[in-house]
Amino acid sequence: MVTEMTEDIVIVGAGIAGLATAVGLHRVGLGCRVLERAQELRTTGAALMLFPNAWRALETLNVAHKLTPFYAPFKTASFTSLSARRTQKVPLLGITVSEKLGLRSVHRKALLEALAEELPPSTIRLGSRLSSIEQSPGESLITLHLEDGTRVKTKVLIGCDGNRSLVAQWMGMSEPINSGRSAIRGLSVYPDGHDIDHEMVQFLGDGVRAGYIPINKKHVYWFVIRTAHPVDEEIWKSPKLIKQDVTDRVAKDWPKEYREVVEHSDLDTLTQAPLFFRSPLSLLFGNLSRGSVTVAGDALHPMTSDIGQGGCTALEDAVVLARNLSLALRKNGKIEFDHKAIEEGLRKYGNERRWRSAALIAYAYLSGWVQSQPWRLVKMFRDKICYGLMFNRFVDLVDYNSGELPSFKLA
Ligand SMILES: Cc1cc2nc3c(=O)[nH]c(=O)nc-3n(C[C@H](O)[C@H](O)[C@H](O)COP(=O)(O)OP(=O)(O)OC[C@H]3O[C@@H](n4cnc5c(N)ncnc54)[C@H](O)[C@@H]3O)c2cc1C
Repeated sequence: MVTEMTEDIVIVGAGIAGLATAVGLHRVGLGCRVLERAQELRTTGAALMLFPNAWRALETLNVAHKLTPFYAPFKTASFTSLSARRTQKVPLLGITVSEKLGLRSVHRKALLEALAEELPPSTIRLGSRLSSIEQSPGESLITLHLEDGTRVKTKVLIGCDGNRSLVAQWMGMSEPINSGRSAIRGLSVYPDGHDIDHEMVQFLGDGVRAGYIPINKKHVYWFVIRTAHPVDEEIWKSPKLIKQDVTDRVAKDWPKEYREVVEHSDLDTLTQAPLFFRSPLSLLFGNLSRGSVTVAGDALHPMTSDIGQGGCTALEDAVVLARNLSLALRKNGKIEFDHKAIEEGLRKYGNERRWRSAALIAYAYLSGWVQSQPWRLVKMFRDKICYGLMFNRFVDLVDYNSGELPSFKLA
């Protein structure tokens, strides 16, 4: 039997972008339905770094206070050049704007759950994979076909379905590009506690950047970002092989504390995946909405993970999207789902996110590129000039405020 549903707003994907957008809409009085293909909230990646821009957005969404007491901000980072075997300790003063907005490493599960808890029950429909989208010419409703046969009609569609977004494809956005680099991530578990200092530790080598970041006294998040290697194809499905590749090959000659962290990995959390990005030019000159359809998060701006901004930027999107849509739909103290108003709200959202998204993608790509070049001249430029210049720009980029949500009195 085919089930039919009708919704005002549908969000596809219950990742950071989808859940944060749903919370943003909820805060401005707009209900929505979130369709997620998985049977539970996906926590791939185990943890992530949240910078001041993310904390500001989470404050606006009224969720930050649920996380900050459990995660201490970082005061310092240490960078080790693997070729020169030189370690530099850097205070994170520029990035840590204040204790409240300080750079923290957070469990993904905790972030997703903190967002999901803010939504009315039954907002999230799990096991609901979008398989196709249909809209007849002149028709304002969009029809979504789910894999289980359900048909969902909606007035607004927001694709938060990640970097291989079906919604972005339907909108005609350019395909994400494989950067030629890949990332391995894992979570190390210390049931009796660890004695690792509470700082971000990074290692920079030829074509590789790696690090480990304590989350709390029992968990340490670690990663390797490197030029793609033929072995990637063989090992990506096996956490055991991924771990072995890091300890026995990639990090064989690195300081032993790195390998020790990797040795403590919980294999269930280990993943390896190629890094994709969308051409920044296509965002600057393309349409970021099509009628009453738009995208947010990785579906809008897939970027390489070199600056840890994909999730932070998804939280910014949520605030900007909820603000623009609610401002467009409010008429005389009431919400009116007028097609022209929806289009206008989404167009304004796209315009507000265009330059920001393009700048972050370009910056992330550039910092990854500079790190991955083996040539001496590039390395000299990188070490002597680039890092200083880029770090200042980075501090500006992450000290971003996506603004407030309007508060209205309903008539
Ligand atoms: C190695 C690495 C390190 C990173 N570190 C950081 C960091 O420190 N800080 C940071 O801010 N960001 C970081 N990122 C980026 C961050 O992980 C992503 O930008 C973020 O998870 C994007 O969230 P999203 O909700 O847009 O997409 P996703 O997390 O991909 O969520 C998309 C959701 O949509 C669902 N979905 C997809 N297709 C369908 C469909 N057809 N029907 C229904 N549901 C569907 C998926 O199941 C998923 O739940 C990192 C990324 C990598 C790879």
